[in-house]
Amino acid sequence: MTTRHVLILGGTCEAAALAGRLHAADDYHPVSSLAGRTGNPRPLPGEVRIGGFGGVEGLAEFLSSRRIDMVIDATHPFAATMSRNAAAACDRIGLPRLRLERPPWVQQANDRWIEAEDVHAAARALPSDARRVFLSIGRQELAPFAARPEIHYLVRMIEPATKPPPLPRHELVLGRGPFHAEAEQGLLVRHRIEFVVSKNSGGDATYAKILAARHLGLPVIMIKRPEPPVGPCVETVEAALGWLRRHRT
Ligand code: NAP
Repeated sequence: MTTRHVLILGGTCEAAALAGRLHAADDYHPVSSLAGRTGNPRPLPGEVRIGGFGGVEGLAEFLSSRRIDMVIDATHPFAATMSRNAAAACDRIGLPRLRLERPPWVQQANDRWIEAEDVHAAARALPSDARRVFLSIGRQELAPFAARPEIHYLVRMIEPATKPPPLPRHELVLGRGPFHAEAEQGLLVRHRIEFVVSKNSGGDATYAKILAARHLGLPVIMIKRPEPPVGPCVETVEAALGWLRRHRT
């Protein structure tokens, strides 16, 4: 049976799980791609490459030169540029591409969500008397919150950034999921947090802060996902495996 080369655009638990399943199969060769944002990524089964491709052009060149047969875009729901580039490069050279994106979280009874279109809207959504805010949105999009210098921010990221966050009053807390609701509740109480700002990432690994906010009755500014590119999209690793089987021929 011919081996199919599958590029998995990764950085998520789903991408890692899919790489494991394909690596264990005889007839697939998975190549996982990471952006290289964290210095110490978790080990992945199969071949791994790290770093940007150089836009649509660079990705199209990579796909052709490495004779990739299929692309699974399993990047984070907020990695919109990579998803857009993957769609454009695959369209250009006629490769099948699938978006694997876990479902978003849905507001439950007792949640107090304020939905925001993007990070800028999230910063604007903080009321004028807000003073202590937990920013759990990664390290790349903190700048809009500098427009509210009177707020003390508790900023969580996986590892320290090369430059300190551009926020006059802040404290860093480092951590990589999965997080647990009791510990998250303790963190919010200890830092006297009034608002949580979160991306609607979905999944279990970072849901504990939402549970903790619900339990404490705290409002969450929930940033909506960007629209994925047009094309087939599934929510689970199983469904992605089914799609790959259907596209083998
Ligand atoms: P992005 O804004 O969509 O991508 C910016 C650039 O980074 C891309 O144009 C590409 O560079 C490079 N890149 C991104 N993902 C890549 C991948 N998997 N392999 C190779 N190059 C990649 O993405 P981002 O928000 O910076 O996210 C970067 C990575 O972190 C993604 O893999 C994503 O799954 C993960 N992540 C993101 C978030 C988030 O909230 N954004 C959260 C958790 C994890 P070139 O144009 O040079 O190819």
